[in-house]
Amino acid sequence: MDTIRSSPGRLETSPLLTAAPALRTADAPLIDPFGRRVDYLRVSVTDRCDFRCVYCMAEHMTFLPKAELLTLEELDRLCSAFIRRGVKKLRLTGGEPLVRRNILSLIQSLGRHLKTGELEELTLTTNGSQLGRFSEELYAAGVRRVNVSLDTLDPERFQAITRWGRLDQVLDGIFAAKAAGLAVKINTVALKGTNEDEIETLLGWCAEHGFDLTLIETMPMGEIDEDRTDQYLPLSAVRARLADRFTLTDLAISTGGPARYMRVEETGQRLGFITPLTHNFCEACNRVRLTCTGMLYMCLGQDNSADLRAPLRASRDDALLDAAIDAAIAGKPKGHDFVIDRRGGRPAVARHMSVTGG
Ligand code: SAM
Ligand code: SF4
Repeated sequence: MDTIRSSPGRLETSPLLTAAPALRTADAPLIDPFGRRVDYLRVSVTDRCDFRCVYCMAEHMTFLPKAELLTLEELDRLCSAFIRRGVKKLRLTGGEPLVRRNILSLIQSLGRHLKTGELEELTLTTNGSQLGRFSEELYAAGVRRVNVSLDTLDPERFQAITRWGRLDQVLDGIFAAKAAGLAVKINTVALKGTNEDEIETLLGWCAEHGFDLTLIETMPMGEIDEDRTDQYLPLSAVRARLADRFTLTDLAISTGGPARYMRVEETGQRLGFITPLTHNFCEACNRVRLTCTGMLYMCLGQDNSADLRAPLRASRDDALLDAAIDAAIAGKPKGHDFVIDRRGGRPAVARHMSVTGG
């Protein structure tokens, strides 16, 4: 709140300033009704993808008409508004972020906020298919870390899981990222009966190449062609199995998200577990998610959202946009309500993960 100093040592609220409802909140941090500070924005820059992972998409997806997407300039303006409001970490995701045309120009442009120090980290979650051609330019733009999704090291399994992906292309991409100086974290979705026998192999492979590994439980988001209860593998079981072979020490790191981290003492690497269904991570939630059409989702596990495209397009000035962001943050729910319906019911959240990018 704005204050004026009326006499030494005494602070008073200015009646003039508090009475003005249209007052710009231009630089005010984003604090939700539960006192959580929102300083992390994830942006899905496209809903499209060159893969069709079985837990993420149906094989035949209907994507958004291109005309509905925010332009790269609009995405830049939106991200910059969030950065002005105190967002320190920005993650681009999708769909597959690196298949959006000219995406590098957005990344290069956003890199200016790293130079001023306003933004602390600009990063990406990617399936790795395009890292072979983009890694060096990503590093030059200021990106220092990437999360790459990889569920198996077996080419046939890889094709079965991603439907359209090629393992060799992704591995080439991962090693190009490493060679360019990017720190790589591997994200693996743990899938019952599909890759559960391979988690140790993946852990060893990551240790050999200096990659951290995070395991993810499947989340019930969007209609897919398969039954999610067949895919669901609780990470508590995976952890118990790993603990038979490795010494896992809990780390007191919190990123404000659903991941819990451990150190694998034998290899020294960091192992994360993302368990939205078996853990409640909402109390420290510091993030919101923006879609490529400008919808802001305040919670991964809820369907409520706010349209930022209309205020963005309504004026060149950011006042309307700031007001819409404030109203959205004021509606951030306390927590999510994910349940995988064991009777094979509808997904807990109607949209696909590729809309908000996880
Ligand atoms: N295409 C990029 C990729 O695959 O990394 C970025 C977008 S993808 C939606 C982000 C992450 O969400 C990936 O690690 C993916 O494995 C994960 N994911 C997708 N659908 C999921 C689901 N239903 N449950 C859990 N994780 C999911
Ligand atoms: Fe594409 Fe990523 Fe979804 Fe796989 S998980 S279909 S790579 S968006």
